[in-house]
Amino acid sequence: MILWDKPIDVSLLIHEEMVFWPSDPKFILERVSEISKGSNANLSRVSMGLHTGTHIDTPYHFLEEGKTLEKIDISRFYGIAKVFEVRSEEKILLKDIEDLNIERDDIILFKTKNSLFLQEKIFHENYVGLSLEGAEYLVSKEIKAVGIDYLSIGPKGEEGRKVHKTLLSKEIGIIEGLDLSNVSSGKYFLIALPLKIKGGEGSPVRALLFPIKE
Ligand SMILES: [Zn+2]
Repeated sequence: MILWDKPIDVSLLIHEEMVFWPSDPKFILERVSEISKGSNANLSRVSMGLHTGTHIDTPYHFLEEGKTLEKIDISRFYGIAKVFEVRSEEKILLKDIEDLNIERDDIILFKTKNSLFLQEKIFHENYVGLSLEGAEYLVSKEIKAVGIDYLSIGPKGEEGRKVHKTLLSKEIGIIEGLDLSNVSSGKYFLIALPLKIKGGEGSPVRALLFPIKE
């Protein structure tokens, strides 16, 4: 029997001072009506990139013919998730993951040294990303989704674009910006559901990890 423990919230707090991908739009929250100014209710408008904070990428993010939020298979963003701590300094290479217990339909989450960067406002260029050979290996394993504790699954630059295309062309879910600082290696149940925005190529998610006792 599986018992559910209290979940760990692995979502980043979205606010003006958080870390953003350098070329992405920043987050702005504007009050359009306020009780303190005589309105009946408090109401806000937000402006932000769809890749703000903890978020998912859909295939359309990197593939012109790829699926958008209303068309993706939502079951890729909940299910059995395995968190692996990897000590890679630059990239997560094949040798770092080929001995891990990765099975078909797993959601694989990598905790790296990025966890230290994620809480800071400044963007760290030298974050750890999944290498192309690592992405190809995960595709061969037919996992449901892969997640990481920084704003991109792949390293910055051309290899990162190839990593995205390799995963997204097989419709493997990508979850980025996970706050895994309070999470240890192990097996969990993940829920990280995107909004249903027509035409959206990504969406912030509220991500929860439920520890599994077997
Ligand atoms: Zn993204």
